Amino acid sequence: MDHNCNLRCDDHRSFLKIPDNQGAKLTQLVQCNRCDLVFEDPRPSQEEIEAFYTNTELWTNSTDAEGNPRSYVKELLAKQPVFQDVVTRIEKYKQRGHLLDIGCGPGLLETVLDSSRWKVLGIEMSEYIAEFGRNELSTNVVSGKFEQIDLPEHHFDTIVMKYVLDHMEEPFEALQKARKLIKPDGVLLIADLINIDSFCARYFGAGHRLIHPMHFTYFSPKTIKFHLERAGFQTIKIEYPYFQTPYFNFPNLKTLASRILERFINQYILRNNKVVYSMPFYGNMMDIWAIPK
Ligand SMILES: [Zn+2]
Repeated sequence: MDHNCNLRCDDHRSFLKIPDNQGAKLTQLVQCNRCDLVFEDPRPSQEEIEAFYTNTELWTNSTDAEGNPRSYVKELLAKQPVFQDVVTRIEKYKQRGHLLDIGCGPGLLETVLDSSRWKVLGIEMSEYIAEFGRNELSTNVVSGKFEQIDLPEHHFDTIVMKYVLDHMEEPFEALQKARKLIKPDGVLLIADLINIDSFCARYFGAGHRLIHPMHFTYFSPKTIKFHLERAGFQTIKIEYPYFQTPYFNFPNLKTLASRILERFINQYILRNNKVVYSMPFYGNMMDIWAIPK
């Protein structure tokens, strides 16, 4: 099953229509007829993409899928345990060396890595949050698009792409570039990748809370393995982080149960298309570990 998929092929079928009432300008997701990859089509315009990432409110005053207020900058310290957990898992493979953190935000991962063993370089598209990291957290963050920044080849022992591949305009080029930059014995971690084959994605459809107009590509365990292979990587492990995250708690599980019931009633008894939002749950996110082939 080889084809020159650029991760948005013309040869595709409809996967999911997103109703207008979700407040997001998103038309539909489609699925590649050859590799089964799911992606957004059409994408937002270049102007919309740029406006989204240059708007500093994204970091200070945003809303989640249900319209609840969020502030990334205010939630920074609360996120540290999550990054600590990532470090613990990275260090099962590598304990030191050069680490490249692609889509690093302000550089939180660097703040929890032992600086006597790790030399960290972060790449972040938003100049605002990159500068915030340099000034407030003293992190080594360069702003710009990963695809366009010159970096040394076969240099990095560990490359991390956390919550970023689905946002990238050229995800396959990004994987190929990561392959060039990694050392022959290096390890790649693609963390917090949305799994479009999860229970919540399949059950809640358009109400799946991880569907967002700025997520261009939606992988599954099968499609990420396939495209990693094409880029020159071998997948060694896929994890589904949930039980060790702050999202695993009783109130969330109770809400999820009631929403599963609500969705069931809407769909099969009332037969309406009302959007019911999903909740964080096991399988929604994937962490993929890969090594150069
Ligand atoms: Zn394809």
